Amino acid sequence: MLRPRVKAEHRPHRYADGTVRIGGEIYGLAAEIDDPDGWVWAALSLMDGTLPVAQITSRLALAFRELSAAQAESLVAQLIASGYLEDAAAVPPPELSAREVDRYSRNHAFFRQVDLAPREHGWEAQLRLRNARVVVLGLGGTGSHAAWALAAAGVGRLHCVDPDVVEPSNLNRQVLYGEADIGRAKADVAVRRLRAVNSDVTITGERLRVGGQEELAELVSGADMLALCADEPRGHGLRVWANRACASAGIPWAGGGYSGPLVTVGVYEPGHPCYECVSAGERARRRPGTPVDLGGPGVIATSAGISGHLVAHAVITQLTGIPAIPPGRIGGLNLIAPDHLIDVRHPARDDCPVCGREATPPKPFGTGLTGPGP
Ligand SMILES: [Zn+2]
Repeated sequence: MLRPRVKAEHRPHRYADGTVRIGGEIYGLAAEIDDPDGWVWAALSLMDGTLPVAQITSRLALAFRELSAAQAESLVAQLIASGYLEDAAAVPPPELSAREVDRYSRNHAFFRQVDLAPREHGWEAQLRLRNARVVVLGLGGTGSHAAWALAAAGVGRLHCVDPDVVEPSNLNRQVLYGEADIGRAKADVAVRRLRAVNSDVTITGERLRVGGQEELAELVSGADMLALCADEPRGHGLRVWANRACASAGIPWAGGGYSGPLVTVGVYEPGHPCYECVSAGERARRRPGTPVDLGGPGVIATSAGISGHLVAHAVITQLTGIPAIPPGRIGGLNLIAPDHLIDVRHPARDDCPVCGREATPPKPFGTGLTGPGP
């Protein structure tokens, strides 16, 4: 880092007792540092983007005679490693055009805030999205919102798949279609709309009803991730196909949906508990005989939108590694009970043929960029 600067979102505050708080008020982002001698506060005050590291260190050592040069150097290094700083000398990477830098400037600010790892230029997450290929299977309530979000966020190659045509009853929630599209294939309309949203990414589509695991495996071949937004065939089958096809391909997948006001997304990645293990753990937890409700026709624009955006957010999180939330879980919320947050985790079963000890190890992520850091 050439000229460290405290990120605008993480501007520090010093309490009367000397404690320094950095990272603002958001749970999961902030840290409080015990600073009885004022060294941390002084170091952060010097980190305004105008001074190189060596000058910050030497000024600190001059200001505090009890602080050795080595201690000052170590303090500055620790603060840089904390992720609350950025390099004021950094410029966007050459892969991104000036138009993309402008288009994704708010993405950049979001990742700058939530990513607590030191970075070269802060555009690493955007490059990961740009280099990724994602398949969105199902372009209904969940999938239309998910596909829009992924295209808008800048996923470089998006493949949109759905077998159906637009019907009047879709228009209460499916964001990509209008009245003029009734009777047209969803895949065709979605591709056209998404290209209009973002012409800097590649959008493709096909009209296809996936009939089995092999077909799904073919569909995700060469993809970095699957966004499963389809609910047919109904029941367990489609998710088991996705679980196995993605495990064989060595890629993560996210599957979302709704059951009335209950909106959930499951996120899975090779090397972590798979869908079949998490759902088996959940079935074992339930009172025996409890029927599993897998949906139904009740849905409004907001529940579909939240569902789709939870899927898209899971895809963005997995692809960028920011934030590094361990997969192998189901998360979500209940729209009629604001205090009911869903966070379901169960361990992998030793005898699981997909993720257990006998399973094939995952292949490394294929976009060839620096990882999310420690
Ligand atoms: Zn498993």
